[in-house]
Amino acid sequence: MPTLAPMPDARGHFGPYGGMFVPETLMAALEELTAEYERARHDPAFRRELDELLRDFAGRPTPLYFAERLTKRLGGAKIYLKREDLLHTGAHKINNALGQILLAQRMGKRRIIAETGAGQHGVATATVAARSGCECVVYMGAVDMERQALNVARMRFLGAKVVAVTAGQATLKEAINEAMRDWVTNVRTTHYILGSALGSHPYPMMVRDFHRVIGVEARRQMLEREARLPDLLIACVGGGSNAIGLFHPFLQDASVRMIGVEAGGEGIRSGKHAARFQGGKLGVLQGTKTFVLTDADGQIELTHSVSAGLDYAAIGPEHSFLRDSGRVTYDYATDDEALAAFRTLAEVEGIIPALETAHAIAHAIKTAPTLPADQLIIVNCSGRGDKDVSQAAAHFGL
Ligand SMILES: *Cc1c(COP(=O)(O)O)cnc(C)c1O
Repeated sequence: MPTLAPMPDARGHFGPYGGMFVPETLMAALEELTAEYERARHDPAFRRELDELLRDFAGRPTPLYFAERLTKRLGGAKIYLKREDLLHTGAHKINNALGQILLAQRMGKRRIIAETGAGQHGVATATVAARSGCECVVYMGAVDMERQALNVARMRFLGAKVVAVTAGQATLKEAINEAMRDWVTNVRTTHYILGSALGSHPYPMMVRDFHRVIGVEARRQMLEREARLPDLLIACVGGGSNAIGLFHPFLQDASVRMIGVEAGGEGIRSGKHAARFQGGKLGVLQGTKTFVLTDADGQIELTHSVSAGLDYAAIGPEHSFLRDSGRVTYDYATDDEALAAFRTLAEVEGIIPALETAHAIAHAIKTAPTLPADQLIIVNCSGRGDKDVSQAAAHFGL
């Protein structure tokens, strides 16, 4: 397992953020999970099995690819892409799903539930459940099921039951509510594979640790390739799992700057975006204390993003901490900027990114030309865009 991080504390606090804000009925399950994870991460057999699956089933290590034409086109810093889009199932999500299914097996839990936004985490979970012969139920907002129909079909082929959630905005937040309700009811037989660095302790820490492999590999690959560390890391931030996975192994390297890119939607106006650090406030949502988009009465605000995977009112608690500390800065890209970046990467590099990923690409497109040519950027290419092709085609009239 990676070196033990100093954060969070035993109750999951990253400074004032994080914690365990859950109903009493879930505390026993979360404590069991925390204890099992603690044992597993010190168990060489667990690490060996996970490393083998990451290599032979998921396809790690993923390449660090020099985007030469994009670099030339932009005329500034050298851009490298960490190719998480090449992983089995098409995004970084499988790193965490594999880790958690092994934990579920250690706990003797044969029923798996998950929430999903864009469907990538649902597909990753359905995949690892199929491989392990476990029953799998995935909760998904009805709106997301419509915009990500391909992933719904994939989950069904993998043997998962996909339950449409029609409450509220019928997107990710409501899907998490339903998954938590299921977990409370079936906690003795069921493990909840949460899909981002979100929710109650131990999830933000555990999900981060399962994704640290991204940054560990990228660090080694950049040292091999350029004989020095990168100057800037860029990743999109929904809950924050692909970003924390890339950033975490570089946090002690003072020369490495990091930028998390949130969903600016149609601009920073109430209900039109999902950029929690632009107008969000300290609040509690779905198990954790963090920056949350709320209205004047403290109600959770509506969110909007062209990408279902970034469309969520809260951000992972460690990102709130990193933002306060100034170690990581956060910016946003709008729907239009992300859609333009989606096209640019496809045309210039032959890589169709996920719309989530396109937010990070959009930031790189803005930033690279402002930096000297000897600077090195790593953009986390968190997923591939197959799932988004029909939505983008409709948008561009292709
Ligand atoms: C789910 C997803 C995201 C957003 O989730 P994080 O936890 O913030 O990483 C980003 N990119 C892709 C491709 C995704 O599938």
